[in-house]
Amino acid sequence: MITEKLYYQDPYISFFSAQIIHSNKDEKGRFYVILDQTAFYPTGGGQPNDTGTINGAHVYNVEEENGEVRHFIDRPLEENKCYAEIDWTRRFDHMQQHAGQHILSAAYEDMYGYKTVSFHLGAENCTIDLEAPALNEEEAKRVEERANTVILENRSIETRWVTENELSKFPLRKAVSVTDNIRLVIIPDFDYNGCGGTHPNETGQVGSVKILHWEKHKKNIRVHFVCGDRVLKQLQEKHKMIQRLTATLNAPQTDLEAAANRILQKQEDLEKTITQLEAELLEQEAHKLIAQASIKDHYKLVTKIYKENSMKKLQQMANSMIHHTDGLLVLFINENDSKLQVVCARSNGIGINMQEYIRYILPEINGKGGGNEMIVQGGGDMVLSSESLMEVMIRAADKLLTS
Ligand SMILES: [Zn+2]
Repeated sequence: MITEKLYYQDPYISFFSAQIIHSNKDEKGRFYVILDQTAFYPTGGGQPNDTGTINGAHVYNVEEENGEVRHFIDRPLEENKCYAEIDWTRRFDHMQQHAGQHILSAAYEDMYGYKTVSFHLGAENCTIDLEAPALNEEEAKRVEERANTVILENRSIETRWVTENELSKFPLRKAVSVTDNIRLVIIPDFDYNGCGGTHPNETGQVGSVKILHWEKHKKNIRVHFVCGDRVLKQLQEKHKMIQRLTATLNAPQTDLEAAANRILQKQEDLEKTITQLEAELLEQEAHKLIAQASIKDHYKLVTKIYKENSMKKLQQMANSMIHHTDGLLVLFINENDSKLQVVCARSNGIGINMQEYIRYILPEINGKGGGNEMIVQGGGDMVLSSESLMEVMIRAADKLLTS
């Protein structure tokens, strides 16, 4: 038995009585009922299903399969008769979004020739995908104005069941995909579409339509928009956000952008200053270390153990030191968490290849590393103390330099 679809007789039916003609559990263990008639709209044509109650049981999903409208409920129902109510706020919102979509799509096509290839009605936003190379602000503004004018004119939205032969009488936007039970949704002299969704009886009930933004999506452009009460909700949220920003940035709405840009500029300036100061500090530290270097037979040795320092900084410092002073060997160790890191560098006039040197050191800490013949770095495990590692490093340098 095929369920009579009350939402096609009158989309404003929000409660009804019916006979439960079938009550069952599907292969996933979900309870469902089939009624002799229903006002619950099943998911389809880009429009999500209705929710509501049947004899107090919560209807959380409605799907149509082979003409059967299955109402999925949170508990089994034993009764033969039922009283059902649909969540009207949710349904009316869907009607507003769906009709708004027809109007917006029609405006885009009439004004710019961009055809709508798909529609999605989301919980927050709706989208249409347009066959267009790109969109611009001016087009969006004009389309939005046109769509809102059609809404304001409170035109009728009619539905009509037609046969395949009758289709040629209507200037349809695209060919319909079914051959029988063809339902047209018509806004006279404006839009003719094959559609199985629910819509209000007049365009005025759409309230308004607002395009939010758009983006490239595959070969098309995806336009995000909202209609009806969602427009007000968006305005309320955005207005609250602007008020908070006005307080945070201590600037009136008209000056918010400039205020934000000033902060970003200030941050950029500060970052530059910090980088400069860090470089100066590094330079000072390098000078101090060179002054304290121990004088060996053929070279000057700088050693230092750091804790939780930045390897990048230590590398920069070692690099600056060896280019600043001849005959210098620099050995840094950095303790980082449970790791030991090393930076080793030598200036001109010292006959060690540092790549060769670090091959002696890294096995002591099960480490890995690399570099060039003047400066190398690496890291490994803290299997010995930093002091012991430093002794190993000094001995290795002595050995290489005297051999
Ligand atoms: Zn529709």
